[in-house]
Amino acid sequence: MKQNGTTSATQLSKLLKELPTINLDEIGDAHFASGSDTPLREDAFDITDERKIELIEKHFREIMLIMGLDLTDDSLAGTPKRVAKMYVKEIFSGLNPSLKPKPTLFENKYKYGEMLVEKNIQFYSNCEHHFVPIYGLAHVAYISSGKVIGLSKINRIVQYFSKRPQVQERLTVQIAEELKLMLDTQDVAIVMDAKHLCVSSRGVQDTASSTITAHYSGKFKEEKTKDEFLAHIYQSASR
Ligand SMILES: [Zn+2]
Repeated sequence: MKQNGTTSATQLSKLLKELPTINLDEIGDAHFASGSDTPLREDAFDITDERKIELIEKHFREIMLIMGLDLTDDSLAGTPKRVAKMYVKEIFSGLNPSLKPKPTLFENKYKYGEMLVEKNIQFYSNCEHHFVPIYGLAHVAYISSGKVIGLSKINRIVQYFSKRPQVQERLTVQIAEELKLMLDTQDVAIVMDAKHLCVSSRGVQDTASSTITAHYSGKFKEEKTKDEFLAHIYQSASR
């Protein structure tokens, strides 16, 4: 696959043919989650971002043409390029491990041994089954094992893993696992409360429901600690 960091269109179409086909009639709209790692191809970064943008632009143009859109229209002409750049550089940029936020850790000088809660972290992701947005709030907590993290880094970790095609369950676990690793502690909790546009704007068209996922580990598995965390995030939700 490697060829000076580029993949030819022929190679790409061969590659696409090799992918397993899934019977959508059997799966329907069911959202199923695989492991906690994003299923990435081994050669995911053999081609450059620039090449990816070129290829996605080309293929997205074809999708629009197949739908019958007139790409000579001024309003549509730039869309394939715009979408390609948005995919690679923005909404799916979190696929690239080189963009993972580097932790800034500080010594816990204040000897603060209670939980730290960062709540109402707004995130935008995309459902990997429909490629439409998932958005909502993440609430994260940890108890310091001697290291503390810059507060904005918690937001950045949430954003980084959100910028992938995702299922909410995996997103929740990926953020929790990264925080455990960075902070060198098991005492981490996260609750994510999100709207899925694949549920509200299509399919059952339920605009009222939201999906809550959670991951508790270490001391947060204990009832008392978990209750304290939940009280922090829900007691003044409107603030
Ligand atoms: Zn979906």
